[in-house]
Amino acid sequence: MTNRIVVIGAGPTGLIFSLLNATSNAFITLLESRPPHDRNSDMRALALSNSSRYILEKINIWEYLKKDIIPIKSIHTSQKGTFGRSRLNAEEFNEEALGYIVLYGDLMKALEEKIKKQKNLEVIYSASAQKINDEKIESQEVIVNQSKKLISHSYNLLVLADGGQSKIEGLDLKRNEKLLDHSAIVTLVRLNSPHQNIAFERFTPSGPIALLPNHEGNYSLVWTGPNDKIKKLMALDDESFINSLQNEFGERAGLFKSCQDRIIFPLVQSSVSKIKNKKIVAIGNAAQTMHPVAGQGLNTGLRDALKLSGLIINEGKGSLTEKLVGDYLSSRLAETKSMLKITEGLTTVFSNDFIGVNRLRGFALSILDCTPPLKKRFVRKMSYGK
Ligand SMILES: Cc1cc2nc3c(=O)[nH]c(=O)nc-3n(C[C@H](O)[C@H](O)[C@H](O)COP(=O)(O)OP(=O)(O)OC[C@H]3O[C@@H](n4cnc5c(N)ncnc54)[C@H](O)[C@@H]3O)c2cc1C
Repeated sequence: MTNRIVVIGAGPTGLIFSLLNATSNAFITLLESRPPHDRNSDMRALALSNSSRYILEKINIWEYLKKDIIPIKSIHTSQKGTFGRSRLNAEEFNEEALGYIVLYGDLMKALEEKIKKQKNLEVIYSASAQKINDEKIESQEVIVNQSKKLISHSYNLLVLADGGQSKIEGLDLKRNEKLLDHSAIVTLVRLNSPHQNIAFERFTPSGPIALLPNHEGNYSLVWTGPNDKIKKLMALDDESFINSLQNEFGERAGLFKSCQDRIIFPLVQSSVSKIKNKKIVAIGNAAQTMHPVAGQGLNTGLRDALKLSGLIINEGKGSLTEKLVGDYLSSRLAETKSMLKITEGLTTVFSNDFIGVNRLRGFALSILDCTPPLKKRFVRKMSYGK
């Protein structure tokens, strides 16, 4: 029998999951509420790990994307107000790079091109999933608003890859949500010297600031902090914004010269604790959403996609049972939990401004810098999730 899989959400996770299923015995219907190409101008810089590179190679996207990718050869981490710092270099770990920067929009463009060529699949744009009917054991269906018409799609497995924000009637899902009250400003900045493939992470009492190498020697800036502060920073003119940034970031990367349009992203931390509906599984941000401090959101989501597609391909011509859903969930639980813990730890520990704690953290960064096995474990976790 041919299994029918409906995927809700053609963001990077939904698209990559569908491409990973090219050799499966399933027919995939991929539903996306927005029109095609709508997200191709998103300039959010994503730091992809070595495990994500492996996944993109597996679906033959890496070669195509190569011209848009910037390798990170070195990562400098520091903390405002202390001397503690850590520096990680790719050669120390026998890796070609510690990570790879790609813009969300560039990745989407490449994936949308690739998906057009896949045979066992249909992508329906401007199609928003509204309701799930799954009371009858013999038939499960999702009702979709497709260009103002309600259309039903039946499924043997429903994959939620909607980023975790949509409301779908009939979906009985429990989520652990932590209100972070933080948001992020993303923009492109130019300094007096080019990036030389170095990424910087600077911890400040109000939140981490990251500088990620981008095209033409520029950096992508991700400045996170409490909503009030971020709102005020958004309201500044470019010159005052650059001055505030220099003041918070210091001169470790050089002198800030200019910035482009600023975009704001609200930040949430959440994870699905239970889905009562049978034969529904969540992957990517729909399953867990984390602070971008360690650049792990999409990397974790792609490992979800790899695991789930592996189980589906292994099933061959067999039917996609609830056992498959159970096996998937138990195989991903430990990694998801630890990634959420790490990112939450990084944001709260470094945001604590008690007297003395600051010096201790500076000390911890120096210890990390001087202890090769610790560094190695940290890089392995960030690169491969293990
Ligand atoms: C500032 C910032 C920086 C980041 N940096 C990094 C980084 O360096 N590295 C990293 O790994 N991650 C990073 N992330 C996280 C990363 O962006 C997300 O993990 C990733 O985008 C999740 O992809 P997704 O496909 O799961 O969800 P999304 O990208 O949210 O896509 C979900 C899709 O589902 C569609 N959809 C929603 N509801 C419906 C519906 N009802 N019906 C049909 N379609 C629907 C939406 O239109 C959307 O296209 C960062 C995030 C932010 C905010």
